[in-house]
Amino acid sequence: MFFIFGEKRALVKYHSDNVASCSHCNSLGLSFAVFKNYFHFFYVPFFAVDEKEVEVLCLKCKEYDNANARANHNRQITRTPLYLYTGVIMILSLIVIRLLSDVLQ
Ligand SMILES: [Zn+2]
Repeated sequence: MFFIFGEKRALVKYHSDNVASCSHCNSLGLSFAVFKNYFHFFYVPFFAVDEKEVEVLCLKCKEYDNANARANHNRQITRTPLYLYTGVIMILSLIVIRLLSDVLQ
C-alpha cells in the first residue's frame, strides 16, 4: 500500500556486548538493537518522534531480554541521528536561503 506520509521505525544502532549476561540462561553475550520512530513525508524523514526502543536478544538462547539493565544504558547513550530531521533541515535551509536572497538584493 502506498502512503505518502506516516510514521516509520529506523534501526539507529546495533551492537553486541560480550560482557552482559542473559537473565534467562545466564550466558554472556547479548545483542542490542536501538530503534527510533520518525515521521516521514514521501519517505523523507522529517522529525523523530517517541522514545527510543531497545530490543535485547541473547546470542545463545535467542530469547528476548528487553528488561535487561543494560538496555536502558544503551538507550541513553545512543544519540538520535541527524538524518531523521532531514525534512526540517531542508525547510529551514530554504527559508534561510530565501531570507538571504531578499537581504542581498
Ligand atoms: Zn540467553
